[in-house]
Amino acid sequence: MAENLLEIQNVSAAAGGKAILHNISFNIRPGEIHVLMGQNGAGKSTLGNVLMGSPEYELTEGRIIFDGNDITGEDTDKRAKAGMFLTFQDPLEVPGISLESFIRTSMQQITGERVKLAAFKKELEDAMDVLNMNHSYAERELNVGFSGGEKKKAEILQLLMLKPKFAILDETDSGLDVDAVRTVSKGVEEFQKKVGGALLIITHSTRILESLKVDRTHIMVRGRIVKEGDASLVDEVNRNGFDKLIPEDIKEMERKERLAAAAKAAMEAVKSAEIGGGV
Ligand code: ADP
Ligand code: MG
Repeated sequence: MAENLLEIQNVSAAAGGKAILHNISFNIRPGEIHVLMGQNGAGKSTLGNVLMGSPEYELTEGRIIFDGNDITGEDTDKRAKAGMFLTFQDPLEVPGISLESFIRTSMQQITGERVKLAAFKKELEDAMDVLNMNHSYAERELNVGFSGGEKKKAEILQLLMLKPKFAILDETDSGLDVDAVRTVSKGVEEFQKKVGGALLIITHSTRILESLKVDRTHIMVRGRIVKEGDASLVDEVNRNGFDKLIPEDIKEMERKERLAAAAKAAMEAVKSAEIGGGV
């Protein structure tokens, strides 16, 4: 196996003509746990989507190497088959397909082999037990009427069943109560133990990380990685917030943008007053 499972090489990306990610580079070795933190709108989900090859995003620069292969131009399906997986920040509701048949079909598509029903059922129920999920959920329509916590559990259930080499968990713990976070975290721990897959965990909190050994932390500000470190960086961010980690040049850029926006708003106010015949 290659020394690095994933190599993100100088990746820049855009959506709708707007540049979002700027020269992102880091590597993940097999089985490692990496954490990605950053304020809302920093570009974390965009990175997850770009790594999975979402057609919504345009890779404007750089390369992505997975398991020794350049997958930069590959579509999402190929990446999933190669062993990549992404949980969604807002999982979609899919009427007409049960959670169980969705997972079984995905497994068959990824492995290219028929998944035998009896063994599948047993494995699925064992995984549901880890996640404190009632077995009846297997027959329910995928995410339809699921609570936020149940949707996140369904994502972790897929993780346990599909056994990817590398998974990106996009705020799987956001908006969950303490018990649900603990359950999700237990599922992730089980995945690490049984499958040994690498993880990129996008999160705002340390709770999901409590039972996991974090190898590396990356902080993203405005589509750039501004700081990297070990597990202690997660605590540092939680203590001090992101502000101290924002480089001066980015702060300056933000100040200028705010001034420009204020000037524009003032000009528009004057214009509309003129048109309205006021003043
Ligand atoms: P995060 O996950 O860190 O909160 P996102 O990656 O969702 O941030 O978004 C980063 C920035 O990119 C935001 O300003 C967001 O509005 C913008 N963005 C994300 N996706 C798209 C898209 N498909 N089209 C246009 N802009 C997008
Ligand atoms: Mg996000």
